Amino acid sequence: MERTLSIIKPDGVKKNIIGEVIKRFEEKGLRIAALKMIKMSREDAKGFYIVHKERPFYESLTSFMSEGPVVVMVIEGESAITKVREIMGATNPKDAAPGTIRADFASDIEHNIVHGSDSKESASYEIPYFFSALEIK
Ligand code: UDP
Ligand code: MG
Repeated sequence: MERTLSIIKPDGVKKNIIGEVIKRFEEKGLRIAALKMIKMSREDAKGFYIVHKERPFYESLTSFMSEGPVVVMVIEGESAITKVREIMGATNPKDAAPGTIRADFASDIEHNIVHGSDSKESASYEIPYFFSALEIK
């Protein structure tokens, strides 16, 4: 059993597809172990994406991620990290496989609807960034 952190980004919340995204995870046998809607400050978003701090898109990405509410959730299941990444699709929607969330809903490489931890190491930083142990059931 594995846990991963997923975020429905501000564009996903604005597009009214919170239910659609969660349904795609649940119908693949994954379980929502924690969930809340929050609005990140610029500093919150910068801390979350600290691994990307040297990348050219860091300023724009962290501005976008703090522009409106997001839904953060802990997703649990067998190979949850890989499964969530498969359901999401590639970072750039132009490269995302048909039927993935990003292929179906993302408008561009930055505004791509959803986040998912890319490794166990990332998940172990990202889950406690938003949730205490008591909030994960
Ligand atoms: N991103 C961007 N431009 C790029 C690459 C990434 O704006 O050239 C944004 C995009 O929102 C992406 C996030 O930065 O989801 C984190 O990038 P990463 O490479 O970790 O992609 P992900 O793991 O989300 O697929
Ligand atoms: Mg990533």
